Amino acid sequence: MGVLVLNASLEPLHTVSVPHAVRMLIREVAEIHEADAGTKFGHYPLPRVVRLVRYVVMKWRYSRPPSWTRRAVLKRDNHRCAYCGGPADTIDHVVPLSRGGARTSWLNTVACCGGSARSCNARKGNRLLSEAGMRLLVTPHVPTWAELCS
Ligand SMILES: [Zn+2]
Repeated sequence: MGVLVLNASLEPLHTVSVPHAVRMLIREVAEIHEADAGTKFGHYPLPRVVRLVRYVVMKWRYSRPPSWTRRAVLKRDNHRCAYCGGPADTIDHVVPLSRGGARTSWLNTVACCGGSARSCNARKGNRLLSEAGMRLLVTPHVPTWAELCS
């Protein structure tokens, strides 16, 4: 399992091994950004994402969540349709844009199967869940960096 390294501006750079990440923490070139709180590696909680401290003048007090993209929504939902659990190749706006739903909100978008008239995307169309008689199998959430990069 790799550890994702973010640069100081929180852009993902690359992944390194856990021992490598811990050496970065010991040398104080990186700080833990997300960790597996239940697991220890030496004195440290098992890091999942570390953040470079170089060039950082002011330490980030609150970490920013990943920004929204269609690809990231599919990744967050493991390419599984939020309505039927099948393979997803598109995204659906839970509250349609035509009904005032947010276009780029993590909480209003889910992975969805599409491409045919029987797909969930086609079945739902521009309707609300209640109107379409459909239910979400998962609750949309703001993903962690680790979710998107594992
Ligand atoms: Zn589906």
